[in-house]
Amino acid sequence: MNRDWLEKDFYAILGVSKDANNEEIKKAYKKLARENHPDLNPGDTEAEKRFKEISEASAILSDEGKRQEYDQVRAMGASGFSGFSGSQGFNVDIGDIFGDIFGFGGSGRRKGQTYQTNLTISFTDAASGIETNVPLRKEVVCEECRGNGSEDGKAFHTCNICNGSGQTASNQGFFSFAQPCSACKGQGNVIDKECKACRAQGSVIKNETIKVKVPAGVDNGTVIRLRGYGGPGDAGAPDGDLLVQVGVEPHKFFKRNGSDLILEVPLLFSEAALGATIKIPTLDKTVNLKIPQGTPSGKSFKVKGEGISPQGRRSGDLYVRVAIKPPSKLSRTGKKKLEEFRDEGYEGAPEEYRGYLYE
Ligand SMILES: [Zn+2]
Ligand SMILES: [Zn+2]
Repeated sequence: MNRDWLEKDFYAILGVSKDANNEEIKKAYKKLARENHPDLNPGDTEAEKRFKEISEASAILSDEGKRQEYDQVRAMGASGFSGFSGSQGFNVDIGDIFGDIFGFGGSGRRKGQTYQTNLTISFTDAASGIETNVPLRKEVVCEECRGNGSEDGKAFHTCNICNGSGQTASNQGFFSFAQPCSACKGQGNVIDKECKACRAQGSVIKNETIKVKVPAGVDNGTVIRLRGYGGPGDAGAPDGDLLVQVGVEPHKFFKRNGSDLILEVPLLFSEAALGATIKIPTLDKTVNLKIPQGTPSGKSFKVKGEGISPQGRRSGDLYVRVAIKPPSKLSRTGKKKLEEFRDEGYEGAPEEYRGYLYE
């Protein structure tokens, strides 16, 4: 894959839309190529640079297969961290973006690719922390050819199509433009006998499992970086990192707000009116909660220290929000008693405080 595809917006370079057809691409290319052609702009290095970009963009976008590949790479890059779904998706190529950010040190040797993988854990495991295994597809140097892709380790010859430049000139009417050489895939040299183990790629994909320690209190979307678990670095450069994106499943009852928990609890009308002591769950036990007499629906009660305790930080609290549930079915006696209660009138009865609605 071409590393710089993620940075180069070929559509923008040609000034066409993402769904432009071949005709539009050709037209845009011809116009821009004419404007920026080196022959017409002697000594103008900016125009020369643009001309190269335009040629490259056109070469990719007018080749259906390459365009598709380019679009995929771009889509992957754009999704970055946020486009995750599922529990075990992984992506090897995406590391290239990070390779570009972290990879090039002063030495010029490239640090290995950054890999990404997803891990989904339960709400309670996220609260308490967990050590778990994560599947990982890792690109490792091919042992057979020690990375050079040729079967006997040295049999290369210079590509005779492009004479080692990795580019070929293609003529289109009046103009000629550079294209990556298809014979050597832009490498400039050709392997005589390809390594069978890696099909001349120099690296193979290995499925591994690694242990990941998820600290207590992680929230949905937390990214854990594991140094050295990414792709192989150039000789003398460190291996890349693995980024583990943690997804936290929702809980059946609890919601989370930072390190606080929120729990909605149904309350009988009689419990709200008379007051009661009710049992409520916390993450790891059951506690009693005192409901005072005359508690309205929607009132929240704080249970101190029963939220999430992120490692090394103060624990959050549990907020219990009550919702009064009227009985959906009444016995004849029950109904009669409630009617008596209604007819008797009481302090704070609705007709008193609803008065403002009629003013
Ligand atoms: Zn090999
Ligand atoms: Zn070539």
